[in-house]
Order: sequence, then structure tokens, then C-alpha cells
Amino acid sequence: MKYKIVTGVLFLFALSMNSQPELIAESFPGYTYNFFSAETYIADSHNMASDDADLGEPRRLVMVAGEASHSTGTHEHRAGVLIFERCLADVDGLEVSTHFGGWPSSDNAFEGADAIFMYMDGGGNHPVVQEGRLDLMQNYIEQGTGFGVMHYAVEVPENNGGEQFVDWIGGYYETHYSVNPIWEAEFEHLPNHPILRGVEPFSTEDEWYFNIRFRPDRVGVTPLLVAIPSDDTRDGPYVSPQGPYDHIVEAKGRSEVLSWVVDRKDGGRGFGYTGGHFHNNWGNEDNRTYVLNALTWLAGVDVPAGGVQCRITEEDLQQNLDE
Ligand SMILES: [Zn+2]
Repeated sequence: MKYKIVTGVLFLFALSMNSQPELIAESFPGYTYNFFSAETYIADSHNMASDDADLGEPRRLVMVAGEASHSTGTHEHRAGVLIFERCLADVDGLEVSTHFGGWPSSDNAFEGADAIFMYMDGGGNHPVVQEGRLDLMQNYIEQGTGFGVMHYAVEVPENNGGEQFVDWIGGYYETHYSVNPIWEAEFEHLPNHPILRGVEPFSTEDEWYFNIRFRPDRVGVTPLLVAIPSDDTRDGPYVSPQGPYDHIVEAKGRSEVLSWVVDRKDGGRGFGYTGGHFHNNWGNEDNRTYVLNALTWLAGVDVPAGGVQCRITEEDLQQNLDE
């Protein structure tokens, strides 16, 4: 706990240097929501973003794309990850490796990773909940490795991965508690966080899961994409099971967290994003920049001032699709 004093001193220093709260928040990402995360940053310098990146040693992001599963244009894990890979290629201080078709054939794939990202189908068939893999991941987590999941990969069984996901990324999609309707989410108010750099308010139609099973009181969770589902959306039908559920209908008007990050006490970072059903949404510049920024941040690399810029054409969106 000796670092607590250092944190306090730095915090006062930041206060004295600049009275604008948003700039202080930039100095201490996550501060706006939760002071202990600033302490986490100071406490574990190995996993701190900017200082390590400055030393010239690149930070390693490992992305895993799951098998083809749904109709063309949806759950395009491979095509999506290929877009992310191409767009992240020029980010200073970041080194990306990718694996396609599901779980890597060698567990060494994750050696030396600063962050692991999974875009794949989940639930009971989630590759990460198969024999021994939760323990494997737990070892990386304890070393401060970042962990991020997208769309169906946010879902794990309550009794097989639920507890781990709550710890690793702050929450998970829990069947019969969370829901998966297809709806247009409007992100009107974006918080001040490095991941929102260069991102303007936007909206996309997606299978945006919500009512995620978060940690109690969402401790340590920083909501980044928040929207209010329409009453019709809550009334269903959802994609599967079709519902409607009383607890979802009764919460009409409530805003829902659709993407978030956590700063873990082990110094690692977590990221959840419940969209990602429709491949064409990577053509939305703000949505794309958001995810690219998040992957950069997850690995502990400074997000560029204007966000990770990348041009994607209509033609690009037709490439590499599953049959
Ligand atoms: Zn889907």
C-alpha cells in the first residue's frame, strides 16, 4: 500500500497543474468513475500503458477469431479480425498476432501477450470454457494480461466461466438474465476516456446484448457505450430465447451498458463489447474507431490523440466473408 501515498501526491500535483477535470481524467484513465483504478495504475508499473511503450518494447495483442457459424454477413469473426489487424498495423508500439478458426492449436499462442481478444461464438461451446482453458487464462490474467471479448464471446455459462468473466472483464452475458434483441442503439453521450478519442456520437443497428451480469454495484466497471432500448425492444421478441422477460420489460426507459472496460487490481485491463453481429457495422467509422481504440488501450498502448484512423470501403466489407 506504500504506493497509495505516491498516488495521492501525484493526484494533488495533477490538481495543482490543471483544474480542468477532464484533463485530470485523461491523466488518470478511469478516475472519473472510480478512484481505486488510479491507484492500480500506479501500483503496477509493468502493466502501465505509456511508460512501457516509450521504452521501445512493443506491446503484444493476440486476437483469436472463432469458427464460421452464422449466415454470411453475420458473426464474421475472421473477416472482422482481419479488418482490425489491418487497421492496427500502423499503431506505434503495438504488435498484433492473429489466430483464425477457433482456439489456437498451440497454447503457446498466448505466451508474452499483453492482451488477448476473442471474437467467437460462446455459451456452453465457448472455446475458453473447454477443458483446462479457464485455468490457462487465469494464469495470464494473474500476470496482468488484458482480456477482451466481443458479441457472443461475452456469453459463458453461469457455472462455467461466469465467475471468471466477472473478475476478468467485469461481467458476462447470462442466459435468461441478459437479452439479445436486434435494435438501433444511439450513443448520444460519450464519456471522457482514451477509448473515445476521435469518436463522435453514433448509432448502429446490431444485436446489442444488454442487462449484462455485472459485478455487484458495477465496482471497477467503466461504462463506455450506453444507450436506452426502446419499449418495443424490451417487449421482444429477442433473438434467442425470444422472451419477453418480465425483468426486462419492467425496466422500460432504463439506460443499458453495451460496452465497457475494467481496470483490474492485478494491473490488467478488461473490455467487453456486446455488438458485432453485423459485419457491415465495421463500415461505421465511429463504431470502428471505438473498437480499434479499445484494442489499443487493452494492450496498454496510448490511444492516438485523434483515435486509430483507418479507411474501410464498401469493397473491403465484402472481403473474406464466410460462405
Ligand atoms: Zn449475433
